[in-house]
Amino acid sequence: MRKILFASSEVHPLIKTGGLADVSASLPIALSESGQDIRIIIPAYRRCLESLTEIRTVATIKLDGYHKPVEILQSTLPDTNVPLYLLHSPEHFDREGGPYSQAKDGDWEDNPARFALFSRAIAKLAINEAGLDWQPDILHCNDWQTGLAPALIADLENRPATVFTIHNLAYQGLYSRDVFDALDLPESFWHSESIEFYDLMSFMKGGLIYADHITTVSPTYAREICSYEFGYGLEGLLTLRAQQGRLTGILNGIDKHEWNPEQDHYLVKKFSAKTVRYKSDNKAALQNEYGLPQKDDVLLIGLISRLVSQKGIDISIAAISRLLHSNATIQLICLGSGESHYEQDLRILRAHYPDKVGVHIGYDEGLSHRIEAGADVFLMPSRFEPCGLNQLYSLRYGTLPIVRNTGGLADTVVDATEQNRKDELATGFKFEASTPQALEHTLGTVIDLFQRPRIWRKMMMTAMAQDYSWNKSAEMYLALYHKLT
Ligand code: ADP
Repeated sequence: MRKILFASSEVHPLIKTGGLADVSASLPIALSESGQDIRIIIPAYRRCLESLTEIRTVATIKLDGYHKPVEILQSTLPDTNVPLYLLHSPEHFDREGGPYSQAKDGDWEDNPARFALFSRAIAKLAINEAGLDWQPDILHCNDWQTGLAPALIADLENRPATVFTIHNLAYQGLYSRDVFDALDLPESFWHSESIEFYDLMSFMKGGLIYADHITTVSPTYAREICSYEFGYGLEGLLTLRAQQGRLTGILNGIDKHEWNPEQDHYLVKKFSAKTVRYKSDNKAALQNEYGLPQKDDVLLIGLISRLVSQKGIDISIAAISRLLHSNATIQLICLGSGESHYEQDLRILRAHYPDKVGVHIGYDEGLSHRIEAGADVFLMPSRFEPCGLNQLYSLRYGTLPIVRNTGGLADTVVDATEQNRKDELATGFKFEASTPQALEHTLGTVIDLFQRPRIWRKMMMTAMAQDYSWNKSAEMYLALYHKLT
């Protein structure tokens, strides 16, 4: 049995902006089920305080660089026995809005102070100096918001082994020298072999330089970030870590209870591989929910995404526009929020094709399940994708993913080539170039194959039979923890 402190800035169902939240719940749950003593720490955002019922103060601590004492609260992750610690500093976290930004006004200005404080609290718990009488063997940090924690304890004798997971290298927490000064960090950190990065401070580098081991969320992304194209200037350091055997790609799993069409209470009709015909009830209900004509023979394309460049939203809009212009028998259903120009472009597309395109701007957990269940295919033409979860949910729901051949998408979807179909391996559709033309071409193949129900059904069955639950991946994390301790 290992004692693991798992630090993250979001966790489902309490606070979520993307896949990090899903993983920060489902991986600890899987490790806890395998008998580990794993405890999660997150900031005590207002939304968390409002939704947790049982919550108590277990420690009051003083952190360097901040004048007021802060509290550590304890609860459990909803519907589980996994202990949850929350860093309670009302001035930093008890406010309206998202974990990193106010609804439309960009990131909170005090994010460096907020997440430096969070990292300092994580460090205190990791070395058992928070008064909780619990010494973890492993500190597992996730993304830049926790990046300073491994740095802060690196030189201490009785520290736990440290793991840092990159969920997305595009977000690094880069700030100016002035910010660095204000955070009251050791001057020795201002060095290119520490967290200094081309005259800026990098929270992410705290994890990359100081953690005993780095992981990222798919084997292909682990290779990609060692290249100029995907490495954001960190490729040299990451290549070195890979050569040292200190960088591993471990594919994310999915919560097999939460994302299960047989038990999904968000659906109008639950279904399994055996009763996959009920998927058409979900399709009709979804078309109805979006005010589109209920037609079973039209290819219904689903899209759920943060609306940012990474996700290739512009590529989707351009390719779908061209197909709609040439009267293809498709419908598009979107759920997402993000950059306002993408939101606007989607609204314009809807205005042009009101009976072919449905758009919901916003965040809606239930609707995301209904799209996974009702759509025929799921669109994910990401420019890069560390792992991606929606294509995994899609496979489970028999909704064939259309993906660009990158990162975790490359690792989890098997393209419908003739050979793969013959071998009964095909689970979706892949294309290479980040261009509307490439996607349009692939969508042409998809539309053709959709007219061939026998082949389509076979692919759905193969997709639904894939096992992307945490079983295998949690074991790989566990093996890594064993190796490090
Ligand atoms: P990323 O973390 O880069 O956003 P992932 O595919 O790893 O991408 O995870 C995205 C997660 O967020 C999925 O669980 C997806 O269903 C969810 N999601 C994204 N946008 C929305 C939305 N508008 N409404 C509901 N869920 C969303």
